[in-house]
Amino acid sequence: MDISVVIPLFNEEESLPELSEWLVRVMNENYFSYEVIMVDDGSTDCSWQVIEDISNKNKNFKGIKFQRNYGKSAALNEGFKAAQGDVVITMDADMQDSPDEIPELRKMIIVDGFDMVSGWKKKRFDNKLTKNLPSKIFNAVARRISKIKLHDFNCGLKAYKKKVVKSIEVYGEMHRNIPVLAKWAGFRKIGEKVVEHRPRKYGVTKFGWERFINGFLDLSTLTFVGRFSKRPMHFFGLYGTLFFVFGLCSSLYLIIAKIIDADYGITNKPLFFIALTAMIIGMQLFLAGFIAELIVRNATDRNNYLVEKKIGIN
Ligand code: UDP
Ligand code: MG
Repeated sequence: MDISVVIPLFNEEESLPELSEWLVRVMNENYFSYEVIMVDDGSTDCSWQVIEDISNKNKNFKGIKFQRNYGKSAALNEGFKAAQGDVVITMDADMQDSPDEIPELRKMIIVDGFDMVSGWKKKRFDNKLTKNLPSKIFNAVARRISKIKLHDFNCGLKAYKKKVVKSIEVYGEMHRNIPVLAKWAGFRKIGEKVVEHRPRKYGVTKFGWERFINGFLDLSTLTFVGRFSKRPMHFFGLYGTLFFVFGLCSSLYLIIAKIIDADYGITNKPLFFIALTAMIIGMQLFLAGFIAELIVRNATDRNNYLVEKKIGIN
């Protein structure tokens, strides 16, 4: 199968018929063999009936329905598990992303050899102040931290090699950081394509301003987890030791000063308090690292690694 299109959706009943017709047109024009997996993330409107209708008429359309609303990441994750196409495309259901981009995205994966290609909504039709500006800041930070050169990490329209989506787990609200997940899983060829962005035609947006804070928090989790989750002591232990040694040296200095000069007042020196605090913080960091190590040693996935190839072994 050439293409799997994965569409997470929550209360998008009005858009689905139009979107599916458009998808069929693009797929047929290009003679692609395809499937469209619509993941209904616990919609409370008639989205699921619409999906059933579409699927009954066209067997390439498949559906997964969640019992309740779990979020876009969960929906993507389920879609990824089910996807069978060589190239997997994700897009939003609200028709802000254009299916006409699919052939070119597929070409970048198949011909140009990208592991993953992210859409870039260069010209956006969203509210400037509440969405475009915060999103610029988020992307700039994400670029710095992850060292992935993308302008638009959170674009819903993306294309992947099949093995990329099978190697990553999108949980929580990590859908904003999928390029980072992909990079940590060892897929380094991450490209970008300017895509057409359209105003939302039906329905309303499902995300509020918290998206940006959550995005930052998730990004720092990822960075930390990617680097240190299998060896937390290397992080906590290092900073703990630095703090502790600094505190210890400062106290020793104060003590020696006191021995040499009996009139030397220790407790009215700022250094005294800094030294105490540094030793306490250092000890706590060290302990946190130690406890984290104990947890990691007992975690069932402590030795789960993504194996790229094997020979002679199934
Ligand atoms: N979505 C979802 N579950 C949710 C929230 C959103 O599956 O809990 C879907 C939504 O239906 C849409 C896509 O995620 O297909 C992007 O959402 P939206 O268009 O509201 O985001 P925005 O374009 O405002 O960033
Ligand atoms: Mg949208």
